[in-house]
Amino acid sequence: MVLLLFGPPGSGKGTQSGRIADWLGIPAISTGDMLREEIQAGTPLGAAAKSIMAGGGLVGDDLVNRMLAQRVSAPDSAHGFLLDGYPRTVEQAEFLDGLLAERHLQTPIVLHLDVPMDALVGRLTSRRQCPKCKRIYNLLQMPPRVPGVCDDDGTPLITRKDDSEEVVTERIRTYDEVTRPVLAYYQDRKYHQIRGDRSPSYIFEEITGILEPLVSKNGASCCAKAKAKQSSDGFAAL
Ligand code: AMP
Repeated sequence: MVLLLFGPPGSGKGTQSGRIADWLGIPAISTGDMLREEIQAGTPLGAAAKSIMAGGGLVGDDLVNRMLAQRVSAPDSAHGFLLDGYPRTVEQAEFLDGLLAERHLQTPIVLHLDVPMDALVGRLTSRRQCPKCKRIYNLLQMPPRVPGVCDDDGTPLITRKDDSEEVVTERIRTYDEVTRPVLAYYQDRKYHQIRGDRSPSYIFEEITGILEPLVSKNGASCCAKAKAKQSSDGFAAL
């Protein structure tokens, strides 16, 4: 199963992607996380991406497409994967179609988290992230138990450089102008629009409700296991 998680910056894609991927037992691939890792490792790709990301623009299609193609050729992606933040342009969507056809993978299922634009800046500027496990917090709606540190591994939380108000505004503008048209590309396929202005657990329930009928028998048993974990973790109560 190939899933594409769409939505403007701050719509909650990062929060949902880990949960969905755990539930289905497939890898969650975030091109934003991959690019940040390239920057941190000081690679040529990281060097090319750094200033573009700092300004809130989009890294070139060629670079991102090549990075993505390499990542999904890893053995863990052979039977499917979830993409968070890709494709962001129509060119990337066309490239992905070619890649899926080559690998005999099915048409992707598109989940679009729709959040009113005026809620996004506040959500992003109050966002914090664990640099180690990548878990996302929000100081207003989902704060960590102990201020400033990750609940899961105690690592000090960071604010992403591109979550400043100025860059956030540019990222939202880029989404509106360049990425929103990609939704039209998928509209007549397996496309599901989900209201993203509700609690993470409510959204997750809606997503699992959409996906449950689509997963195979094997997938269904992995879903049941994850659901048991979900209630023992208590995240249904979030
Ligand atoms: P994200 O973590 O998804 O918010 O992405 C952070 C930044 O990484 C974006 O603002 C872009 O500069 C860059 N980026 C991530 N994914 C892509 C992509 N598919 N195409 C181009 N640039 C991307």
